[in-house]
Amino acid sequence: MSSITLKNITKAYGNAIVIQNLNLKINDKEFLVLVGPSGCGKSTILRMVAGLEDITDGELYIGDKLVNDVSPRDRNIAMVFQNYALYPHMTVYDNMSFGLKLRGFSKEQIKERVNYAAKMLGIEKLLERKPKTLSGGQRQRVALGRAIVRNPKVFLLDEPLSNLDAKLRTQMRLELKKLHSKIKTTTIYVTHDQVEAMTLGDRIVVMNRGEILQVGTPMEVYDYPADTFVAGFIGNPPMNIIPCVLEKSGDKVFAKIEENLVKIEISSDELMNYIGKKVMLGIRPENIALKKSAEQNNAVVDMIEVLGSESILNVKVGSQEMKVRLYDSEETFTIGEKIEVIFGNGFTLFDADNGRAMCHIHAG
Ligand code: ADP
Repeated sequence: MSSITLKNITKAYGNAIVIQNLNLKINDKEFLVLVGPSGCGKSTILRMVAGLEDITDGELYIGDKLVNDVSPRDRNIAMVFQNYALYPHMTVYDNMSFGLKLRGFSKEQIKERVNYAAKMLGIEKLLERKPKTLSGGQRQRVALGRAIVRNPKVFLLDEPLSNLDAKLRTQMRLELKKLHSKIKTTTIYVTHDQVEAMTLGDRIVVMNRGEILQVGTPMEVYDYPADTFVAGFIGNPPMNIIPCVLEKSGDKVFAKIEENLVKIEISSDELMNYIGKKVMLGIRPENIALKKSAEQNNAVVDMIEVLGSESILNVKVGSQEMKVRLYDSEETFTIGEKIEVIFGNGFTLFDADNGRAMCHIHAG
């Protein structure tokens, strides 16, 4: 097992620079997720770590060893792709043992490793089958099994679940997490799906346009987004980003949205620095409270999505829309109802010009 260090890594295709001066350390035994929209450079990073793509500039270390010029097969890395890449004419057993045979392992060693991995993945009964007789989830397990038997220093997983249906994806996500907690191999996992990133990663790296915007644990990134891009990318529905001016009246603070005042329930000395300033207030849907109040009404219920255990309401303050998450036990509202919106629990102020987070206010 091993750490991985990317030092000032740049990658260009001809004149097009897709990654510039990127720095990142993946710790030994860590499950790190690279997440960001399609085309932001996630796969390019993975392929450079695997050795499938040349590094234009910078240094890549696996453990203490500089590996820029080490061939893929000598890096002791196993990669699993979205499309599994299984050999259709071979049985599951042969698919899993193929790489070991090439490396000169004995029959007994191969048998031991394949059986161990098959047991861990719950595919012992499928070893004599051919890939075409397997379901998508089973094939993905075989692809993982083929990586596990090699006992590599590092796993690289590129959108490994995106070919599976929603239910199976959720199930395999859990299995991957369990698997990692057992074998603890250093893993880099690429996805554009923020739910996968949040649920799988020890830490997640949010990227956009070849740049790292934030690195942190899922909860750090959720509660303390570094900028409006991260805030809008993580969470479903994402954080509301609301242009407003902060005002103080007596000992209360309000967000003035167009001509409407929204009470802010929690405050801090730091917040006082922004009174009278134009900011973007970022607040998660679950941190907005709705109150039936005849006098303080500042909003109207525009749309309601009932999801079972919770509802997502689209609420308008003037022309400014925001999403509000309500749990089942709470009061019910109707479309067109006038209500009071209150900001509570936690929020972030972003710079109205560059979108960077200026301060995070959280209750407790
Ligand atoms: P992601 O994995 O985040 O979807 P990629 O790493 O595949 O993104 O791509 C990053 C950028 O590099 C994209 O703009 C893509 O068009 C470009 N790119 C990837 N591979 C090549 C290539 N072989 N030649 C030229 N441009 C490429």
